[in-house]
Amino acid sequence: WQSGQPSERSAVVDLAAVEHNVKRLMQLARGRTLVAVVKADGYGHGAVQVARAALAAGADMLGTAHVTEALALRAAGITAPVLAWLHTPATDFAAALEQDVRLGISGGELDAVLDAARRTGRPAVVHLKVDSGLGRNGATPEQWPALVRRVREAEGEGLLSVEGIFTHLAVADEPARPETAEQLATLTTAVRSAREAGLSPTMVHAANTPGLLSAADREDPDAMLRDAVRVGLGLYGLSPFADRTPEDFGLVPAMTLRTRVANVKDVPAGAGVSYGLTYRTEGPTRLALIPLGYADGVPRVATGAPVRIGDRLHPVVGRIAMDQCVVDLSRSRPVTDAAGKPGAAREHTVRIGDEAVLFGAGSNPSVTDWADAAGTINYEVVTRLSPRVPREHV
Ligand code: PLP
Repeated sequence: WQSGQPSERSAVVDLAAVEHNVKRLMQLARGRTLVAVVKADGYGHGAVQVARAALAAGADMLGTAHVTEALALRAAGITAPVLAWLHTPATDFAAALEQDVRLGISGGELDAVLDAARRTGRPAVVHLKVDSGLGRNGATPEQWPALVRRVREAEGEGLLSVEGIFTHLAVADEPARPETAEQLATLTTAVRSAREAGLSPTMVHAANTPGLLSAADREDPDAMLRDAVRVGLGLYGLSPFADRTPEDFGLVPAMTLRTRVANVKDVPAGAGVSYGLTYRTEGPTRLALIPLGYADGVPRVATGAPVRIGDRLHPVVGRIAMDQCVVDLSRSRPVTDAAGKPGAAREHTVRIGDEAVLFGAGSNPSVTDWADAAGTINYEVVTRLSPRVPREHV
């Protein structure tokens, strides 16, 4: 036992990987404006650090859900354009306008935005959102003409200017589904009618990460790419597709969730492990204690997920607890390379203090391995990492 080792638990975020991913996504977007989506604390990676890296790599604009998230970027000294699109009656639009935050407009918030523009004397720069089929925010095709009329009037009064029109896709991660083309056609119709009514948006956008990554395979990539893409997941080097890895797209996972083995012990056959004693050892078994649990954001239901120690992957056995989980060192398989080929695992006796990687470090194990074990998606695994895990930006 060596005490005082640095960073006993951390999510290491490789900002060079973020920069690489932004450049790669910009290549795929073929010159379109890239909006780097850094909501939810940069999908758990640290919004300010990711925003700075993305801008350094050439991103044009930042995207957040809430105005509060956009204001936090401003408070950190980030002056680049920021668009925030999810509002409530409590949203402070005056602060948004004073801090030059662009606003997504669905309809219900418009009066409050215009009121804030009058009070602050600052016209709002807005992106109108059309609900082309996701059924969340945005004006439906039926509501669209009325929204456009009100916005046109407000533009005439100098209270706002329409910079963009956008929509959000429902099934872009399943490229074979027909609904995406229907959504894109609805967007086209909405843009046309807005132009006919006198608006002149310069930035039409629809694609999220799966939309961008699948654009090249579509009959008409331009219908997907439009003037801009709003990418989140891809910035972080993760794949939105069940059957495609980040490497397939030249993306590099940015986050490594790692810690150090807190205990190692040998137990006999039949020993129970963790709450509920849902796991019992089949034979004499060596167990290692991993000091990360559901209070850290590790999904409680991810029993069976792999933890890498040395060159081998060991499954989590028994229930994941609040602060810790247990892996079975007697059951293991070698790590695989990007092509899925097992590497040459060296013999390694696991000791207290050894590095244990839940995901990252290349992509083996991957965030998706943990998402699969938990019955969820990689988006949720990284965004739910809790503040108890220090983020280390390298
Ligand atoms: N645009 C909007 C409106 C979103 O809500 C999101 C995230 O969910 C994104 C873009 C980014 O999506 P993705 O992470 O798939 O790129």
